[in-house]
Amino acid sequence: MRADVVVIGGGAVGSAVAYFLKSMDRSVAVTVVERDPSYEFASTPRASGGIRRLFSVEENIELSKYSIAFFEKFAETMAVGGTRAEIGLTRNGYLFIVPPDDREVLRRNFETQQRLGCDVRWLEPAALQQMFPSMTVSDLGAAVLSPDDGWLDPHSVLMGFRNKARSLGAQFLADDVVGLDRAGHRVTAATLGSGWQVTADHFVNAAGAWAKQICAMLGVVVPIEPLRRFEHFFECQDPIEPLPFIKDTRRLAFRPEGSGYTGGIPTLAEPRGYNFDVDRSYFENVVWPALAHRFGQFERTRCTRSFAGLYDQNDFDGNVIIGPGAGGLGNFHLLAGFSGHGLMHAPGCGRAMAELVLTGRYQTIDLGRFGWHRVPAGTPLPEQGII
Ligand SMILES: Cc1cc2nc3c(=O)[nH]c(=O)nc-3n(C[C@H](O)[C@H](O)[C@H](O)COP(=O)(O)OP(=O)(O)OC[C@H]3O[C@@H](n4cnc5c(N)ncnc54)[C@H](O)[C@@H]3O)c2cc1C
Repeated sequence: MRADVVVIGGGAVGSAVAYFLKSMDRSVAVTVVERDPSYEFASTPRASGGIRRLFSVEENIELSKYSIAFFEKFAETMAVGGTRAEIGLTRNGYLFIVPPDDREVLRRNFETQQRLGCDVRWLEPAALQQMFPSMTVSDLGAAVLSPDDGWLDPHSVLMGFRNKARSLGAQFLADDVVGLDRAGHRVTAATLGSGWQVTADHFVNAAGAWAKQICAMLGVVVPIEPLRRFEHFFECQDPIEPLPFIKDTRRLAFRPEGSGYTGGIPTLAEPRGYNFDVDRSYFENVVWPALAHRFGQFERTRCTRSFAGLYDQNDFDGNVIIGPGAGGLGNFHLLAGFSGHGLMHAPGCGRAMAELVLTGRYQTIDLGRFGWHRVPAGTPLPEQGII
């Protein structure tokens, strides 16, 4: 089998790459190898669906600006055969809350976001209290609200990209990449579990939390690790005013969902690995106290469901690694290490990867600083403040 581009992994990120490649050049032959079309363990369907412009690194803000604008038109853009691709986009805002010690960092990030044209609002504790009367603000130093941000349904985003890419001629193979052939500075072919081989000019590693396994097939070691985190659904008997997606410096992150809420507290202390077991005590011991501290109503919360999913955690600096160079390879492109931001940045990064593959350079957002080179150079580019 032969393709121009092989994309390894057909989650939101790989499917977005396939869509942008085909939408930019219909003649390019794109094969996406996705071993599990049911996406049982893939990270995308397990995400909370948060989308926000609240970052400190300029590239992340630009990726969010591009991606959120793209999500606003997603239903029409991804329509196939006249059927709209609805994604449940809810613009109830995104709110970062910080203690007094973190005011300065929040301020700097707020100014960067403003300079880049984001509609963000600085809130002193008194204004925050007025806006959210149920919130305990006595220990807070400030907050920033991004009113146009919010959340969406991750699985619908994945299916929207996938269906549209297929309608444009991308081929999705339900198969496993089990080996990669290398000749000098190039990857020449992918060997599949079925025994087939696919040759191509470019290979994109969009395998998310499994990206390091793909790299290992080439003897390349990357700092991207599977990091388990729990998502919990919980209900509250006592009413709370409508809330945005809320995040604090201790990594509590939650939002309304249906008649209740969804969220959790990811921790970097978690051992790395492909572990989907759920620790039933985590909600009660870690999440519930943080919720009850912030909103008294959560004293009487009830957790109805918990599940585990994996971050593709970049342990080097917590940001995506995009482009060629790992292992000295010129046509093997990494697109992983999103560390919890992959869904919201799938459109921007999908487009960037398509530009890189088709034209050799970034056209829309310069993501050069997110390249592989920063890892061997030892120059991390981390987010500041809430991550
Ligand atoms: C609980 C939780 C909450 C999150 N919340 C958010 C959020 O609010 N906002 C946000 O932006 N992000 C969030 N994320 C992160 C987000 O889910 C990921 O960054 C994003 O889904 C990554 O997409 P992906 O396509 O790279 O990975 P995936 O969706 O995991 O897709 C990778 C695919 O590669 C396939 N694959 C792996 N190995 C092979 C192989 N050898 N051969 C063939 N196929 C292979 C897998 O089957 C999988 O389908 C969250 C993650 C979790 C776990």
